[in-house]
Amino acid sequence: MNGDCVFCRILDGELPAHFVYKDEKVAVIRDINPQAPTHLLVIPREHISSADQVEDPSLWSVLMGTATKVARDLGLVEDGYRVVVNCGDRAGQTVHHLHVHLLSGRFFQWPPG
Ligand code: 5GP
Ligand code: ZN
Repeated sequence: MNGDCVFCRILDGELPAHFVYKDEKVAVIRDINPQAPTHLLVIPREHISSADQVEDPSLWSVLMGTATKVARDLGLVEDGYRVVVNCGDRAGQTVHHLHVHLLSGRFFQWPPG
């Protein structure tokens, strides 16, 4: 728990959020500023600042397994969905607690902006 971190405070129940899923390792919330009709954030409970700081690679299995489970459970698979991890300021990371974006419900261009 990092008291200066907005995601730690949400996961600790100190700040409100709309939870879609939670277990002992990870939680999924709705993004406060959605960039698609469905925009979720898959967040590990452990405070890890960025993707390159992950020490146990099995965490990726938890994060991607949760993202794909939620995509199935919410019926996003047929429409298609995108998973994104922004790593570092120049890649668009604004919250320095690791998270996987799960976006769906519109057409996504490639390459991303
Ligand atoms: P990043 O830019 O770091 O990849 O993504 C951070 C995401 O967190 C952004 O999409 C932003 O809208 C979302 N976000 C920031 N603060 C909050 C908050 O307090 N609650 C929720 N639900 N989402 C947040
Ligand atoms: Zn944190």
